[in-house]
Amino acid sequence: MSLSDFITPGLFPRCTEASNLYSTALIRLGQPISVYKCNHPKPFLTKQPTINSNNCQENKCIFFCTCANITIVDSTKIDHEAVIPPETLNGLKELGLFGIQIPEEYGGLGLSNTMYARLGEITSLDGAIAVTLAAHQAIGLKGILIAGNDDQKAKYLPKLATGEHIAAFCLTEPGSGSDAASIQTRATLTEDGKHFLLNGTKFWISNGGWADIMTVFARTEVVDKDGQKKDKITAFIVERAFCGVTSGKPEDKLGIRGSNTCEITFEDTKVPIENVIGEVGGGFKVAMNILNNGRFSMGSAGAGLIKRLIELTSEYACTRKQFSRSLSEFGMIQDKFATMTLNAFVMESMAYLTAGMMDRPGVPDCSLEAAMVKVFSSEGSWICVSEALQVLGGLGFTKNYPYERYLRDCRILQIFEGTNEILRMYIALTGMQYAGKILTGKIKYTIVEEQLVLKKVADVLINLYAMTAVLSRTSRSISIGLSERSLNGLGFVFSPDSPENNDANTKKIAQEVLAKRAYVCSHPLDRTF
Ligand SMILES: Cc1cc2nc3c(=O)[nH]c(=O)nc-3n(C[C@H](O)[C@H](O)[C@H](O)COP(=O)(O)OP(=O)(O)OC[C@H]3O[C@@H](n4cnc5c(N)ncnc54)[C@H](O)[C@@H]3O)c2cc1C
Repeated sequence: MSLSDFITPGLFPRCTEASNLYSTALIRLGQPISVYKCNHPKPFLTKQPTINSNNCQENKCIFFCTCANITIVDSTKIDHEAVIPPETLNGLKELGLFGIQIPEEYGGLGLSNTMYARLGEITSLDGAIAVTLAAHQAIGLKGILIAGNDDQKAKYLPKLATGEHIAAFCLTEPGSGSDAASIQTRATLTEDGKHFLLNGTKFWISNGGWADIMTVFARTEVVDKDGQKKDKITAFIVERAFCGVTSGKPEDKLGIRGSNTCEITFEDTKVPIENVIGEVGGGFKVAMNILNNGRFSMGSAGAGLIKRLIELTSEYACTRKQFSRSLSEFGMIQDKFATMTLNAFVMESMAYLTAGMMDRPGVPDCSLEAAMVKVFSSEGSWICVSEALQVLGGLGFTKNYPYERYLRDCRILQIFEGTNEILRMYIALTGMQYAGKILTGKIKYTIVEEQLVLKKVADVLINLYAMTAVLSRTSRSISIGLSERSLNGLGFVFSPDSPENNDANTKKIAQEVLAKRAYVCSHPLDRTF
């Protein structure tokens, strides 16, 4: 079977070039970012302690930087107290992590999507921090970055890049979640035509309690070509310093408890017309572009988390004895390590393939691919965290260990940035557009109402994209000499029809991982030319 057999015409037109895209490597774990040009210290992560039944040291991630500033992230404390301490936030700001993709001319790190994904492997080790950073830059300020004008960029990005100002993305409302186009917040032009008056309530806003700058979506009246008045959505940059902005108290959440999630109310908030992002009436497209743009990084974030889980649990599996044998000798425990390894491998493959495509000139639209990465990775992470917890049996269920927290933190991934149900609809219906054009007028069938069919189609497409990414990465690895057996084996094990997809190979992968107490595969960004 060749790669082209996987490709539906019009669906994955860019994938045939996939193997080249793994050449966009720039960051490695434990090493400074090689293309660093600005003055921020360089973030990297220490070798972390493995599981220890006498203390909870494994709950602390340590972000180091070359200037000897050390930021200790105590995830247990963040979860327990439901807040990220100011000193931790300040440490993250000093590392430049609030301006990862803001261009250097505005004081950011100016990193590519690939590098953003690479850093996501590290920041995802604390869910609350990952969501705080993502709410700020993957959605909060992204509108200014991708659709703002030069004046808006010059005015807002420098303080956002350093973290002096925090950003939030305000779309969801009490009556409008998945159906984002139904928002009721309204912006009315003042008589002098210089301001909009903003009124309405936004719900579930990450960073909502402390954001200084918000991207807010509201209905505005527009007059169309035929002179008809219509309500259309417009995107605005709103400063908390403008009057009439109030935040509710933080939500008490299941997971990512240290991230701040609040209701925000706007009451006659006066927003200058200069603060419209893009065109009046063009806000829905801005919102979708922002969301579509950020989802791909969930793949590398999930992979980073799973690799950490493998490190944490493998030592326990190899030392804990039951029935006079270590857990690692049991096939069903080995299966869990193979599942974790396989998921991390696939998520990495999908995330870096997509990031590489997004980094190509001309800002190609990768919204479909990004949605597939998001669905696969959010569900894969959930399964893997549960399997890691299961390795520890009863201990995994206690608060002495981080697994229950990882499980709680991980659950949100299937809900926000587009629920997996809505994204499956998007994936299936987008994937059918080619066939739809051909069949229009020939058959009478309202496919949009056939959700169970759409779910199956979406799952097929997600798996096809995953296999495309995995086979592409594997074939590149073979051709450039990264040919560890397990790496290539993984590629084939993930292809359901491959003869390599058998129990013996699954065990082989698990045994290798358990022996090294770590994820064994090369990184997709290794060896770039
Ligand atoms: C911790 C957290 C942080 C968040 N941060 C932000 C933020 O920063 N900014 C922001 O704007 N929003 C944010 N949100 C909101 C988030 O994007 C919404 O929760 C999400 O879009 C779903 O909306 P909803 O909760 O109203 O669920 P609903 O839309 O009411 O959906 C409920 C369930 O029904 C399903 N469903 C809905 N419609 C369909 C359909 N047509 N077919 C099949 N199934 C369907 C959904 O998938 C879901 O499972 C956040 C939410 C949370 C929990």
